[in-house]
Formats: sequence, C-alpha cells, structure tokens
Amino acid sequence: MSDTAVAMVVTRPLGSLSPLVAQTASPTGMWVWVRVSVTASGMCNADIGGAAATGADTVFPVVPGHEIAGVIAELGDQVQGWSVGDRAAVGWFGGSCGHCAFCRAGDVVHCPERKVPGLSYPGGWAQSITVPADALARIPDELDLVDAAPLGCAGA
Ligand SMILES: [Zn+2]
Ligand SMILES: [Zn+2]
Repeated sequence: MSDTAVAMVVTRPLGSLSPLVAQTASPTGMWVWVRVSVTASGMCNADIGGAAATGADTVFPVVPGHEIAGVIAELGDQVQGWSVGDRAAVGWFGGSCGHCAFCRAGDVVHCPERKVPGLSYPGGWAQSITVPADALARIPDELDLVDAAPLGCAGA
C-alpha cells in the first residue's frame, strides 16, 4: 500500500521544524511492525532536545515525537494480537531486541538495543508512524486519544 503523510521534520542541527510530505513507511515485509495513523502526539521536553538534532549520531531528517496515540492502519506479516482499526499508543519505549539477557528477563527497558520513537526511527509528529509491534500499548475505548497520547511518555 502506497500513501503519503505529512511529517514535521528537522533537516539540520538547530534547524527549524517544517512540514514534509513523504511516502508512508508500509510495514509489509517488516514482519512485526505496524503503521499507526496518528490522531494525537504530545510535545515533551525530551522532544526539544530531539528537535535540536545536535547529537553526533543524528540521522536526518529527524521527526520528533514519542507521545503518540492513534489507530492501526497497516500490519506487518507476522503481527499477532492487533488488528487494523485498534486504538494504540506508542510512548518512550519504542521496542527492544527481544533476545538479550535483559529482554529474556522481561526487563525490556534496559535492553541495549532499546528503541525510542523520534530518536531511533521517525517519531509521532506526523500523520503516520511505523513502529515495532512490541512498542504498542492498547488504549481503552473510554479514554480519549488526545488524553491518552501524553501517557505514552511515562509508558516505559
Ligand atoms: Zn534486548
Ligand atoms: Zn516525553
């Protein structure tokens, strides 16, 4: 499936944030990744640092945002337990390797390969985000997506 989405990007260190229309990253063939259509994305102090994009290992363009709430739009081939249309949050925890000693002990937050949306891959200041399925948290029907988004930051 090919589609476009607007993302807010920074293209150089200390550059301004500007909208970019880009192809959505389809999870087809990415096995356990999903694409979430973003309804709401919070702005966190950690995003200010991310948007400054001054890290030596920064990969441009940077799309900040790790307080995301939306609806699943596309599923990778091997994703289990989620369906298109499910309401999901993505927070500071953006996925882990699944096979290191920390992951095998359930301590995924300390995985040396732990990912953070907006730092490890394009984040939620966009209409669409593609993330590993283990980064998802289910949002109850009675919780508004706008209210749910900032909870993702502490969701680690
Ligand atoms: Zn790990
Ligand atoms: Zn945060």
